This record gives sequence, structure tokens and C-alpha cells, in this order.
Amino acid sequence: MTGILKRLFSRKSKVKQSKPSNDSRSETDYPDGAHILKRDAHCVSRKNISHNALKVLYRLNDAGYQAYLVGGGVRDILLGLHPKDFDVATDATPEEIYDLFRNCRLIGRRFRLAHILYGREVIEVATFRAGHDGSTDTTKQTPADKRNAKNDHARTSDHGMLTRDNVYGTMQEDAFRRDFTVNALYYTVQDFSVIDYANGLQDLAERKLRLIGDPVARYREDPVRILRAIRLSCKLNLTIEPKTAAPIKELAALLAHVSSARLWDECNKMLLAGHAQATWQSLYERNVAGYMFEQTVASLQDKSKNPVSSEFEVFIQAALQNTDKRIANQQPVTPAFLFAVFLWKPLQDLTQQMIDKGMPAYEANQKAASIVMDKQRQAVGIPKRFSTIAKEMWSLQFRLNNLRKKSVMSLIGHPRFRAAYDFLCLRAGSDPQLKSLAKWWTDYQDANPEIRNKMLSQVEHPAGKKRRSYKKKKRPVKRNNGDPI
Ligand code: ATP
Ligand code: MG
Repeated sequence: MTGILKRLFSRKSKVKQSKPSNDSRSETDYPDGAHILKRDAHCVSRKNISHNALKVLYRLNDAGYQAYLVGGGVRDILLGLHPKDFDVATDATPEEIYDLFRNCRLIGRRFRLAHILYGREVIEVATFRAGHDGSTDTTKQTPADKRNAKNDHARTSDHGMLTRDNVYGTMQEDAFRRDFTVNALYYTVQDFSVIDYANGLQDLAERKLRLIGDPVARYREDPVRILRAIRLSCKLNLTIEPKTAAPIKELAALLAHVSSARLWDECNKMLLAGHAQATWQSLYERNVAGYMFEQTVASLQDKSKNPVSSEFEVFIQAALQNTDKRIANQQPVTPAFLFAVFLWKPLQDLTQQMIDKGMPAYEANQKAASIVMDKQRQAVGIPKRFSTIAKEMWSLQFRLNNLRKKSVMSLIGHPRFRAAYDFLCLRAGSDPQLKSLAKWWTDYQDANPEIRNKMLSQVEHPAGKKRRSYKKKKRPVKRNNGDPI
């Protein structure tokens, strides 16, 4: 790592571009203030970049457009990591990109983007955008202004949130409208240099995550940046710089105005990228978790129910740790599992309240499951296919208690059996009373058919316990008119 940073900041490498490039297109002029790191001064190489991302960069360049790798793709390679995906920034409009790639799909209203599809890989291509602080000089008509003439610009909501962000701009403007300095680094395949407008290289060297511009204004403009700050700092082990960190607690309430669909996407990125435990911790400590998981946080903070609430905390921690481990081992994970965990205690509490009011246990559990899940979905839009899985896992917890042969046989073939069993094992970690039940299921799965039969007859007719004999009730003889005699 230190080697990379030494290379990154060798004096020779810091070049200030003062005159326009010899490219005929004027927008390739680098504005004053950008640091250009030449090829021999950084570690971003085409070997680290996906073949498809390179294809997109070359195709755009060949058609006469500017095109840069930007965002996580450049940042992660500079940190010696493998980027999760590759993002491209260009001066071509979405429609021009669409015309250039047969495999292109245009998406987004708030932020119009082109997705270039290569099998399962998606290269996200965004047109250079400007900020909205009035800093753009409107007296000169730039190519970006011409592109804006055809476009429906930016809009903000009553809360100052950007609901539409389609004001095209120059590359420099694009750099300053990005969220963090380390995300505003651009790599070009024209001369393989890295271009830094916002001092991202220095922040990367100091392992700092810093919002570009005034943090309060930037969070107000898009509160999801709060989640991105937390996620990226945990994923990349960067410190959130104090001015960027300071307003988070106070402004977290703005997340209530973000669409539930967007929060669902962000939750997946935060919890299913291998750093769920650290991310949850940070969300919780910074008072952000409650705006996405209100019921969970209320249960965790329910002092009247201690130590039950600390058992719940142990349960959540174990689930997060387990998720991170599975991702590290490249085992599959489903967001349904974590949501089932987060809502387990709220579900138990509501079920109990309903039972106390006289509702039968099973019915109370089913009803409570729907209420708890519906409330969660108002904040974070869990798609039905996942909320159904979570609910199935909950209802299977009931059935895992029933060790009769018929029930066990049907349960073991249930598509959610494995998830429900894993869930039971996790519960047993924080509830000692469940240990023997979890062990029974573990042993049963490991056993051969003969032993399985033995295990079943042992639980159905445990030694020392007499079988209850039921007297067969005489069925009343029915009269012809249907009344019992
Ligand atoms: P990763 O892909 O590793 O999760 P990333 O930073 O690449 O991290 P993306 O969601 O792929 O995240 O976004 C690509 C780039 O788009 C970011 O690096 C950033 O420059 C810009 N960006 C994304 N979201 C925002 C936002 N809410 N506000 C401003 N810029 C953003
Ligand atoms: Mg990315």
C-alpha cells in the first residue's frame, strides 16, 4: 500500500496542466487546478480494468467523445482493491450513447444514465453533469449548454432534495458534483493518466473520506450521501473526515424523504458487500439506523426489556458476522435472512401483545408478521419475493419445534428449510433454551436413514414417557334428518 502511495505522490508525478491539450475538441482542455498523474506515476493499468469497460471507453473515444473511467473503478484500483463495478463518464448525452451501443439501455428519471449490458456485467455510463449552486457561468454558451437545451434540467423537492439531476456540464463541473473527493478521479485510455480535480489523491493517501463542497448542503441535496459515507468508510477502511462526519446525526432524519426503493438498493449495498457488521455499527452509532430500521432500533433500545434487548443485539451481531463470513467464502446470501433477523424481536413482541389480548398463538404470529413487515416496507421497499421468504422463515420456526415424523419429513424438503434451520441455529446462539433443538436438527441432517428413524421414534416416544392412550370416542349415530341421536 505504502508503495502505491509513494508512487502516487512522487514529485515527478504531480503535473499541473496549464495549456489545452492538442486534442481538437475544446472540452478536453483541462481546467487550471487539476492534477494530472501520468501513467508512470500511478498503478491504474488496463490489466485491472474489465475488458468491457475498456471497450466502452475506446468506442466513445473513437466516436469523438471524451470518456473516462471514474468513481469506484479508479478509487479501488488506487487502493489496491478489485472494483465491484466500472463507471464511465463522458460528454456524450444519453441519447448519443444509445445510438452508439446496440446493447444500451437508458434508465433513471432523477438521474438519466446509460447502461451498457455485457451478459451479467453492466457498465454504467453517465453524461458529465454540473452542480446546482449557480456556479456555472451562464454568459458563455458551452457545448454543455447546447446539450442542456434539449434536456429537462434539475428539480428540487420541498426539502431541498434533488429530484431531477440532469443538468449537463463540463468534465470539471462533473468532478465537483460528485460526492466524495476520492470518487472524483478520472482515468483516460488516451494517455493513461489519472486526473484529479478535487484533491482526491491526497485524501486517498491520508485515507480520508471527504465530501466535496459544503457537507450540510450536499447531504440536503441528496441524503443518500449519508449512507454512502458510512458504507464507503467501512468498506474501504477510510476515516470520515470531521466536517463530513459532523452533520450526519442531525441530518439523518432527511432519509425519511428518500424513496423506499432507493433505500432498498442502498441497504443491499451496505449489508451484502462483506462489511455488514462494521456498517451496522456505524449506522447505529451515528443515529442513522433508526431511519431505516425503526422497529429494530426501538427493540434494541427498549430498556424495560433488558437483558432481552441485549440478547437481540447478540443475535443481530451474529447474523451480520455470519453474512460477512459467507460473502468472504463466496457462499450465497439473501437479504431476506437479514431482514428476518432485524425484525425478529419486534415480531415476537407484537405476537405476545396479540396473544395477551386472547388471540391463538399461531394466528397472532401470522398477523404480527404481516404488520411488522408492512411497516418495514414503508421505509425500505423490500420486494415481495424477499419479504415472503422472510415471513416463511419465521413461520417455519414454529414448525421446527414439532418433531413428529410427518412434520419433520415435510419440513426437510421445504425450499426454505435450510434458511430456517440457519436462523434457528443463530437464535440458539443467544437463547440457550434452543440449543438442544438446534442440535437435534443438525444431527438429523447428518444422520443416515436408519439413525434418522431412530431419532424420530425417540422424540415421538421418548424412553420413560408413557404413550398417552386416547380412548376412541364413540361417534354419535346420525339420524336421517342429520341430528345426532
Ligand atoms: P462502489 O461501486 O464500489 O459501490 P462507487 O463510488 O463506484 O462505489 P457507484 O454507486 O457505482 O459507487 O457510483 C459511481 C460514482 O458516481 C461515484 O463514485 C460518485 O462519483 C458518483 N455518485 C454516486 N452516487 C452519488 C451521489 N449520491 N451523489 C454524488 N455522486 C454520486
Ligand atoms: Mg461503482
